[in-house]
Amino acid sequence: MRLEEIVEPLLGWYAENARDLPWRREVTPYRVWISEIMLQQTRVEAVKGYFARFIGALPGPAELAAVDERELLKLWEGLGYYSRARNLRKAARVIMETYGGELPASHEALLTLPGVGPYTAGAVASIAFGLPEPAVDGNVLRVLSRLTADNSDIADPAVKRAAERTVRGIIPAGRAGAFNQALMELGATVCAPNGPPACGRCPLAGLCAAHAAGNETAYPVKAAKKARRVEERTVLLLVRDELLALRRRPAKGLLAGLWELPNLPGALDGAGAVERAR
Ligand code: SF4
Repeated sequence: MRLEEIVEPLLGWYAENARDLPWRREVTPYRVWISEIMLQQTRVEAVKGYFARFIGALPGPAELAAVDERELLKLWEGLGYYSRARNLRKAARVIMETYGGELPASHEALLTLPGVGPYTAGAVASIAFGLPEPAVDGNVLRVLSRLTADNSDIADPAVKRAAERTVRGIIPAGRAGAFNQALMELGATVCAPNGPPACGRCPLAGLCAAHAAGNETAYPVKAAKKARRVEERTVLLLVRDELLALRRRPAKGLLAGLWELPNLPGALDGAGAVERAR
């Protein structure tokens, strides 16, 4: 199969099946950027409400650049990965100072903004500006690996770069945004992770090597992740006169700058905690 053959059926399917998502109703560079950052590591359903509140409170780069950190983190509260919010504000300041308040219409310039990597730069460049840049996320890697029965390890950065070159080579003229979104949408809703894909609903079933071989779930190949590190902590509830003690975490590292209950390493009983806190 020549991979170009997926373009038309995929675009036709997307035109019929694209989900109605808040950030798709009005496409601006700012809205695409905010939605793409929020969607990193986060489910679409969880993002919808946050996106509406964020855009309502901070409708453009000027408001985002000027917001104070407390309000920013309040808008982000519960979404996790708070460095994303801080990087958004840093990037908004660069946009105000360097780009006259508008996101730059260039892949290279987008890549220089804090918190913007190749995927996000490609998504904003293609969806908001129509530039022929790939936007390869986990969904796209999964679809490509199944379509071509490619057993390369998708956790390998070189494999991702190769996928970006592949996608760049087949982006249809003038339809980069729709094409990138169609590939991601197929991966999110049909050629989904965690179990067998819905090949019966797939517009590419007749072109797909994994489907032809009946071994769709053998792809993608991904090296096992390192085991999650489990840390035991003893959390202290220190109450006096209806006041509860909180402390602020260091400015760098995990949950940087957020408030937390004081805590100690290890699983301690009351006496052990008093002893350790001395
Ligand atoms: S046919 Fe099945 S495995 Fe192949 S791309 Fe479509 S959903 Fe994925």
